[in-house]
Amino acid sequence: MNTDAAILPTLAKALRLPTISRRCVDLAETATAESWPVTRYLRALLDEELADRADRRIARLLHNAQLPISKTLAGFDWKAVPHLDRRRINALAQDPGWVERGDNLLLFGPSGVGKTHLAAGIVHGLIALGKTAKYARTTDLVQHLQAARAEHQLPKALARLDRFNLLILDDIGYARRGDGDASVLFELIAHRYERRSLIVTSNHAFSRWDEIFTDSSMTVATIDRLIHHAVILEIRADSYRRKQAGERQPDDNYGDKPDDN
Ligand code: ADP
Ligand code: MG
Repeated sequence: MNTDAAILPTLAKALRLPTISRRCVDLAETATAESWPVTRYLRALLDEELADRADRRIARLLHNAQLPISKTLAGFDWKAVPHLDRRRINALAQDPGWVERGDNLLLFGPSGVGKTHLAAGIVHGLIALGKTAKYARTTDLVQHLQAARAEHQLPKALARLDRFNLLILDDIGYARRGDGDASVLFELIAHRYERRSLIVTSNHAFSRWDEIFTDSSMTVATIDRLIHHAVILEIRADSYRRKQAGERQPDDNYGDKPDDN
């Protein structure tokens, strides 16, 4: 290896080009062996760096999103929910237009029917397209925002969430006005209205949202903003969780011991 080639990895690293740093020596050998023009060598290095950079960005976005792992649309059993329009849900994951407009997605249904799974699967798809997202259990986020408000930092905390194109508020129905002032939730939804998207999951119909908010006018104001530009999906099915647990039970008294997972 000549001295120029030997110094290349260090120079590339100093310029924060990790892929070029890793690949430049090997590729220089290939280029020499195959008599590449210098431009082809340079192009090959830059192409690899760009491709890796895009992959690293997606990996970082996925990490930051803190999605429940492995919940992708590819792993979703559509037969369990035949009334759901699979094409429409795939479109939500593959066409980011609704996120760019700041529209919302609301998923309703009883516990265990796949609301969180679908939300995470859709967001997986959107992150692969470069959208930024954050998953939160609503109760955790409400606590976080209440703490921020106690320190007069609520506007700042809301602004910080603006860097996410999409925020998942999972299980909004578990937030309770009795757990403290849930008006931070109204503040959040009003703050993002028509600017940044929300995916909200709930096992409570709107008629029970009075249990979440401080008073009914706040409930109405919140629902109005959420549904103004929104796709609303209702999932009617038996709990997948329970069904799977059921399938694992032995079907007679002579079989194996029931497994306990
Ligand atoms: P919910 O949020 O509606 O309570 P989850 O999305 O948490 O339900 O689903 C419960 C469990 O069942 C999860 O492990 C989820 O991956 C799985 N699950 C639910 N519905 C389906 C489905 N149609 N196909 C595959 N897995 C499913
Ligand atoms: Mg859930």
